[in-house]
Amino acid sequence: MPKLDKTIDVADSYAVRLMQHLVVPTFVIDPKRRVVIWNRACERLTGVAASEVLGTTKHWQAFYETKRPCLADLVALDRPEQLPEFYSEYAARGHNGLGFSAENWCVMPKLGSQLYLAIDAGPIHDEAGNLIAVVETLRDLTDQKRAEMALKELATKDGLTGLSNRRAFDQMLMTEWARAQRTQKPLALLFVDVDHFKLFNDQHGHQPGDECLRAVAAVVSRHAARPLDLASRYGGEEFALILPEMSCDEACAIAEEIRCAVMALRITHGAIGAGDHVTLSVGVACHIPGEADGGPDHLLGSADQALYAAKRLGRNRVICAERMLAEFTGLGRDSEQVPGPAARKSA
Ligand code: GH3
Ligand code: MG
Ligand code: MG
Repeated sequence: MPKLDKTIDVADSYAVRLMQHLVVPTFVIDPKRRVVIWNRACERLTGVAASEVLGTTKHWQAFYETKRPCLADLVALDRPEQLPEFYSEYAARGHNGLGFSAENWCVMPKLGSQLYLAIDAGPIHDEAGNLIAVVETLRDLTDQKRAEMALKELATKDGLTGLSNRRAFDQMLMTEWARAQRTQKPLALLFVDVDHFKLFNDQHGHQPGDECLRAVAAVVSRHAARPLDLASRYGGEEFALILPEMSCDEACAIAEEIRCAVMALRITHGAIGAGDHVTLSVGVACHIPGEADGGPDHLLGSADQALYAAKRLGRNRVICAERMLAEFTGLGRDSEQVPGPAARKSA
């Protein structure tokens, strides 16, 4: 029936032309995953001309540097189980013909700049239910994603030091406390406080005070070395370090390293009543949460008490809550005290 064929031809070319000029970046692959349509908007988005990809299976090169499937390929191959491997956000709408959605940072080799793309890929079947094509449409969400990331950064980071803020600290402590409760591994907490910082500000001014806080923050942050360690600015001139799965001895050693590293910076203090250089006092606590323990309040309280003791004993020292308790109850008479220099000034 030639007339009908002609109608289909016209319809096809009309549909193709429509797709070519669609403002939404779109490409289409056939069941063998060869590109059959690569529209103008897709050329603009990727910097890759249709002539470079039509008839090939090289569409991945428009988005990534190393060979990997695009979302349309996963639809064509019907591999929803591979979505988590390739995409940070995804939704598989199953086998009902509606395809997959995903979001991802793409390298965009031709553009030389990364884009965050929202991607939808849907299969097209013939009347017999055979796959004849997969259509992939793309949306550039880079600006929104960057705004979202900046907002998240603002909500969780301290502006002066770049460390996590108190809010992020509170959240992370709850999370790590719950994890320690499950795993029955020790959770260590350090409170790090700059000694005589009010006098520092009085002596040198607020701006040098800010610079001093940044320098101390950099040292504290350097010691949050493992992926789940968290360094935060707890308040004014006080920093907190969460160290999951860390023994009391290891936590004390890190506290001592931090104290020594700040001394080694030799930031001039020199105010009357303070030493020549900026020093730190550190309180350490380490608990394995009991099953009945409600929250981390006791850990916080212990680290705070240890810090208070460090101040009272003359500052510029590390005090561990557990060892303090052992000393107090006489249980730890033979236990080693964390070394600290002679008191510069009584509390
Ligand atoms: P101590 O050794 O007992 O800790 O004495 P301190 O003077 O360090 O403690 P205090 O709590 O009396 O004073 C803390 C000071 O930290 C007071 C405040 O002006 C200063 N401070 C808090 N936040 C900032 C900040 O963002 N920048 C500057 N420059 N100073 C700050
Ligand atoms: Mg202080
Ligand atoms: Mg303080």
